Amino acid sequence: MTQTVNKSLNPLPLKERMKVPRQPMPEQPPLLRAANFGEVNLGYSEELARQEAARCLECAKPICVNDCPVGVKVKEFVQLIVAGDFMGAAAKIREDNVLPAITGRVCPQEDHCEGGCLMGKKVTPLGIGYLERFVADYEQQHMDPKDIKKAPPSGKKVAIVGSGPSGLTAAGDLVQKGHEVHVFEALHELGGVLVYGIPEFRLPKQIIREQIDYMRAMGVQFETNVVVGKTVTINELMEGEGYDAVFIGTGAGLPQFMGIPGEHFNGVYSANEFLTRINLMHAYEFPKYDEPMVDFRGKDVAVIGGGNTALDAIRSALRLGARKAYVLYRRSEAEMPARKEEVKHAKQEGIEFHMLTAPVEFLADDKGWLKAARCVRMELGEPDASGRRRPVTIAGSEFDLPLSVAVIAIGTSANPLIQSTTPGLATNKRNYIEADVMTQRTSRRGVFAGGDIVTGSATVILAMGAGRRAAKSIHEYLTTGSW
Ligand code: FAD
Ligand code: SF4
Repeated sequence: MTQTVNKSLNPLPLKERMKVPRQPMPEQPPLLRAANFGEVNLGYSEELARQEAARCLECAKPICVNDCPVGVKVKEFVQLIVAGDFMGAAAKIREDNVLPAITGRVCPQEDHCEGGCLMGKKVTPLGIGYLERFVADYEQQHMDPKDIKKAPPSGKKVAIVGSGPSGLTAAGDLVQKGHEVHVFEALHELGGVLVYGIPEFRLPKQIIREQIDYMRAMGVQFETNVVVGKTVTINELMEGEGYDAVFIGTGAGLPQFMGIPGEHFNGVYSANEFLTRINLMHAYEFPKYDEPMVDFRGKDVAVIGGGNTALDAIRSALRLGARKAYVLYRRSEAEMPARKEEVKHAKQEGIEFHMLTAPVEFLADDKGWLKAARCVRMELGEPDASGRRRPVTIAGSEFDLPLSVAVIAIGTSANPLIQSTTPGLATNKRNYIEADVMTQRTSRRGVFAGGDIVTGSATVILAMGAGRRAAKSIHEYLTTGSW
């Protein structure tokens, strides 16, 4: 049974807690891990988790909770770790977060919970992500699926389109209200970007499968290889198949290119295609699976971009044998949107960062294979619409960087299929679905949307937050009938 946390269970006096250093995450040594796809971070032991948890200052008004998009009760679950009640801590997290083993690994904690931690203002913030991951992994190893409770049936049926974090969160929250939930996924694997984008060394596929199995045990039903808008339309789901509500969480998976000469040459890829091949065609299990397109032994590879996708692509290329592995980013490191921990890990592994550098053209040999990127150096000017300083080309700074492979990771856009096959579904001029920010309602009665398909490419936890808000409004709609 979960303990209710009222008074402190922490034996360490408050003034002593600031003196305890943050417990480092055990990890594979850089040179070893740069040659394998095993997870970089190895996870806290019970002892390390309890030592780290004991640092929590137990603030009266914890900012970390407000700064978490799904409102995980950080203080309470951390206190339960201090008390050694790890299953209780897991249950506490699950009240707000249905995918804790995933968020504990990939949330940009510095922008959310840990960014708000009071301890971080003076020393280093509490390792909230590390603790969440520890608890989720502990739960997975110790739970009995028979203990997972199912809510009594409500008689209502909901379709979830897309099995990324927004769809999974909406499904998990709705099934706990007793609704019959069916998730339709276009690909043959469940998990969205979690499975086809984020590589094994950051988020093992087994972890995603376990979280999905947990949801199956809760009663969620999954169907793969169903392309909604083609196999079946939203109208057919609602009118023909009796779904009372639909949630669209189809993400923003369409790759964007730079529009520079030579992008069509052999050896230039979108990050989307590149990572999908590695992840879904098992290239990461080389030599068990031999995927020749991603054999980079002896090749020089560059990725263009500064986000998580860019780092995932280049660190994967390194693991697949690249001789040189570069990041070309047109701004400086301070503006890089990637998680700080990934930047640190990539540097340790030997990735070369060329900041304030951008290709303006790709050059090929006479057979059409990439041989170099013509690049320019940049400097930072005034802030642009994103609030970040605009990169400006330095005249006369052109140089050629010899390359065999270039991966474009400058962002993605919305896949238009559902928008074009669902009459009355309002979209904005970039073809993202319009949805209310609080309720995730669209312009179509009974249809809700959230995650990257509404906001454009964002983060796992923001997509989960949208899934959570949508589930709440879907439940209200199903129980009151009012729109
Ligand atoms: P998605 O995860 O994109 O899932 C959408 C799903 O819908 C997909 O499975 C897709 O196949 C399916 N689908 C699409 N169309 C249809 C259709 N017509 N019918 C049925 N199914 C359909 N965020 C972080 O917070 N931390 C990270 O470390 C991080 N790393 C990233 C690394 C990479 C390589 C990428 C690409 C993104 C990363 N992100 C990260 C961003 C994060 O993964 C996304 O913001 C998040 O996955 C969006 O979730 P979603 O549910 O909106 O969509
Ligand atoms: Fe932090 Fe993410 Fe967990 Fe929220 S879900 S507490 S933001 S790690």
